[in-house]
Amino acid sequence: MVKHSRLPKLSSGACEKEFASLLELSARLGCDPMLVQANNGNTSIKLDGILWIKASGKCLANAKREQTFVPVDLAAIKESLRNNMEIPRTNIPESQLQPSIETAMHAVLPHHVVVHVHSVNTIAWAIREDGPRQLNKRLAGLYWQWVPYVPSGIPLARQIEGILREAPETNIFVLGNHGLVVCGRDCECVDALLREVERRVAITPRPSPEPVAGLFAVMSRSSQWRFPDLQALHALGTDAISRMILRKGVLYPCQLIFLGPKLTILPCSVPLSRLADYFTGRAEAQSYAIVEGGGVIVNEKINRAEYETLIALMQVVQRVETSAPLRYLTETEISSVLADGTHRYRESVMAGYPPGAGSTLSARGSGAGSTLSPPGSGAGSTLSPPGSGAGSTLSPPD
Ligand SMILES: [Zn+2]
Repeated sequence: MVKHSRLPKLSSGACEKEFASLLELSARLGCDPMLVQANNGNTSIKLDGILWIKASGKCLANAKREQTFVPVDLAAIKESLRNNMEIPRTNIPESQLQPSIETAMHAVLPHHVVVHVHSVNTIAWAIREDGPRQLNKRLAGLYWQWVPYVPSGIPLARQIEGILREAPETNIFVLGNHGLVVCGRDCECVDALLREVERRVAITPRPSPEPVAGLFAVMSRSSQWRFPDLQALHALGTDAISRMILRKGVLYPCQLIFLGPKLTILPCSVPLSRLADYFTGRAEAQSYAIVEGGGVIVNEKINRAEYETLIALMQVVQRVETSAPLRYLTETEISSVLADGTHRYRESVMAGYPPGAGSTLSARGSGAGSTLSPPGSGAGSTLSPPGSGAGSTLSPPD
């Protein structure tokens, strides 16, 4: 158990026990890629007038291993909100930790324990125009509310405040184009409620064609590019419905922050020798590319946050049917996410993930030709079109 020796002492054994439960729950949620990717998601508990909230840039998965939570005076946050001022920074000696970007939201929720996750299943509903109607059936009988998309931070806190004024019994919030918030009197209740929500919103992912073996072979010749082992990830390239969805825009802020405003989708005919040229002239070198009909390739510099976001994006779009009316982030919303504050957020996230952190991705395989030629060009050194009889090797992860 991590010692918070420099932090305010908890007033009683009961409080310490509750805090330990939060660490336990946080660590468990943080290890579930269907709920939390990299260091997104945040949890909190209110004890003795102090809001203990996940620190910005920290991973829930490490909650039991390292100092992950920071104490913030609850009354001070509420006072700041009333006065439209910034949330006070913590002043912990020798600690650089700062409270999560969602601190204001956690503060306005009256519940003892609050959990915010980027649940893949919830997001697959939260990006739909008809999300509220679809969830009405699935979440019937629960105290839930839909929160139309607003940026993280104070705008989201204000939106939640407004909903609570009308429906104070709410303990489940589905955040449009964002994720899920579940609250309750203790960790046990919140854990049970989260499981119940997850059970009800679960979607079986669509099977997808296998990645193209030729792409794997071609990539094995590159020193900088890898062909990830994770078979399911390649659906981003091989599944026509997923590609169609992704071409139309940005579905949620994490996609934008970690994968960019426009996903890199290469035609299958781009020769390997041109991959480098393809990216030349861009402000930032690409860390991944989706190869149309082929699969996904990742650069050696990809970090864990980017890689996990890419996997989650695949999990989301594989759960969205062709006919679903989707709500993409607007240009204004995209500009707002890319504005200064969120860039700082990304930097704090990236601080925990050095380049290459995601590169447990092998590039095995025998040598092959060096081009990703147009399908059907015949040579052994080319990629074949996705085989019609490829069959799916994907099985639902849940
Ligand atoms: Zn979030």
